[in-house]
Amino acid sequence: MIKIDLAGQIAIVTGGNRGIGDAIASTLLKAGASVAAVDLNMENHEYDKAKYLPIQSDVSDFDAAKTVVKQVFDRFGRIDIIVANAGINRDQVLWKMTKENWEDVIKVDLGGAFNYFAAASLIMKEQRSGKLIAISSINGLRGKFGQTNYSAAKAGVVGLVKAAAKELGKYSVRANVVAPGFIITEMTDRMPQKFKDAAIDETALKKAGRTDDIANAVVFLASDLSSHITGEIIKVDGGQYI
Ligand code: NDP
Repeated sequence: MIKIDLAGQIAIVTGGNRGIGDAIASTLLKAGASVAAVDLNMENHEYDKAKYLPIQSDVSDFDAAKTVVKQVFDRFGRIDIIVANAGINRDQVLWKMTKENWEDVIKVDLGGAFNYFAAASLIMKEQRSGKLIAISSINGLRGKFGQTNYSAAKAGVVGLVKAAAKELGKYSVRANVVAPGFIITEMTDRMPQKFKDAAIDETALKKAGRTDDIANAVVFLASDLSSHITGEIIKVDGGQYI
């Protein structure tokens, strides 16, 4: 029987309060890991307090990321898994894109991944093990109308992960990307219905994804089942971008 067992593993999930991030935290917990969930606003979650640490912090703050990583290391004694999931979108066509909307998305979606990977990489290098996982988007791979900022940030994390995979591979630290397609969450709930229908119609499977679909791919990449996979992108999109 193949079993995913992350017992004893310590994970940080950014944007872990809700949506895909909460599903990732909950699935990692089910696989036996301990999880620190980092978010701008952490609500109450009914998880085992011995294995779940909610932390309020802004991922776009470089120094705060270092502090959070140290806090988790001090509490649990190691860091095995970082899931850079926190993300925002501020959609606008290029000719109307404001400097603020550009910078906010780059700071959170790309900067947040950099801040956490940079802070954890020294610990993982010394441990000679670790898994860095970034949540990108198929729109970072193909570009999306109205999302120059988001597509650039999400493409940026792919470059970040590939370079990190090369730098850290010899220390047995792996770095990979999960690129979701259309997943039902609060982020996508705000989309007008006709855009949701169009996204579903693009998929080969003719359905939207669930947060658990992303969480399952993350847990696979966090586990030894993927021990020879690094620098890779796994699209979880129902065939939306084939
Ligand atoms: P949600 O908007 O539902 O959740 C995102 C979470 O990130 C929220 O809890 C949010 O906090 C948090 N967050 C935002 N900014 C920061 C910050 N500066 N510091 C810390 N936490 C922050 O999004 P999803 O769950 O849908 O998306 C998760 C990831 O998946 C994102 O990176 C997104 O780009 C990506 N993705 C999602 C797709 C989808 O279809 N849903 C498709 C492709 C990619 P708060 O609640 O306070 O705003």
